Amino acid sequence: MCGIVGYIGYREAYPILVKGLHRLEYRGYDSAGVALLKKDGELNVYKEKGKVCNLEQLVESKDTSGEIGIAHTRWATHGEPSRLNAHPHVSQNGKLALVHNGIIENYASLKTFLESKGFTFKSSTDTEVLVQLIQFIQDEYNKDLEGAVVSALRRVTGAYAIAVIDKDFPDKIVVARNSSPLVIGIGEDYKEFFFASDALPIVEYTNQMIYLNDGEVALLKLGQKVEIHNLDNEDIDPKIKEVDINLDSLEKGGYDHFMLKEIYDQPRCIADCMRGRLLPKEKRIVLSAINQHREKLLRAKRFIIVACGTSWHAGLIGKQFIEQWCQIPVEVEYASEFRYRKPVIMSGDVVIAISQSGETADTLAA
Ligand code: GLU
Repeated sequence: MCGIVGYIGYREAYPILVKGLHRLEYRGYDSAGVALLKKDGELNVYKEKGKVCNLEQLVESKDTSGEIGIAHTRWATHGEPSRLNAHPHVSQNGKLALVHNGIIENYASLKTFLESKGFTFKSSTDTEVLVQLIQFIQDEYNKDLEGAVVSALRRVTGAYAIAVIDKDFPDKIVVARNSSPLVIGIGEDYKEFFFASDALPIVEYTNQMIYLNDGEVALLKLGQKVEIHNLDNEDIDPKIKEVDINLDSLEKGGYDHFMLKEIYDQPRCIADCMRGRLLPKEKRIVLSAINQHREKLLRAKRFIIVACGTSWHAGLIGKQFIEQWCQIPVEVEYASEFRYRKPVIMSGDVVIAISQSGETADTLAA
């Protein structure tokens, strides 16, 4: 669960990107990087192993100007954590820069294909294959950036959120997602766009957001509405949401670590969860969100809770409560095992999935 941040508009991109990377630090990462593009087409890429502050030190004496930029915190899946493997990755012709969250499952065959076409690779990541593939398609089929990204993604299997910039077009960024989250923030009159892995790096600039769906590619071009296509090249109507997020509740709030904050948050969280639901005077519990499933829940013969990590432990507590009060058997399973088994699920079974982030890949797959 690493992070992507991007900006295109009239402000300096770098400060927005670095602040955004800090806001995504809670997701965990091993290296960080940024690509900055100026209106005249000059592209500068800086990356560093370790913390975002290492990247900040690296660029102290460097040119960080430019109103377009993409930035990344990496959690290595292919290739060790290193400066070379950190994102952004740049295409062989030096024109494209790309950041990617996720895994390109068929990268090995794509790499062999591209090598046969004369491409060489600097990193050992799966991601570099994608940026070279986009260049190959641009060169071979004379496609514009968005067309080349759609064509490339049609050949890719895997999970991704990506952002690509092109030196030749310093007025647009193309982003896409499949199984890794991506949120787009829209500035006034489409004079600027923000995007990130979650809304945190965006909320202080705009509350107008589009949550991209799987298999969607969006073109962010200055001065025009967001254009979204699916991988069959069909137009998708962008659904703009007004998002109301309280930044204080999402930041470290004066604590040194998110874990410490979460520990101290517990009493308030529990009170918030119970407020309006636990009605002691009426001796009633109201769970309106699950009301529509009431009949099925009442008919349940067994509950299967699937989750990972802390959520799995929460599931174990849930098992105690459900079995004690409902006398209905409960099994608690690791989502990462459940997804690859052929579990026996019968008509009276109710499966409950728990994910703190809502993004836990194994739980979603399960
Ligand atoms: N698979 C890519 C890599 O290893 C991206 C990892 C990530 O999501 O940060 O570089």
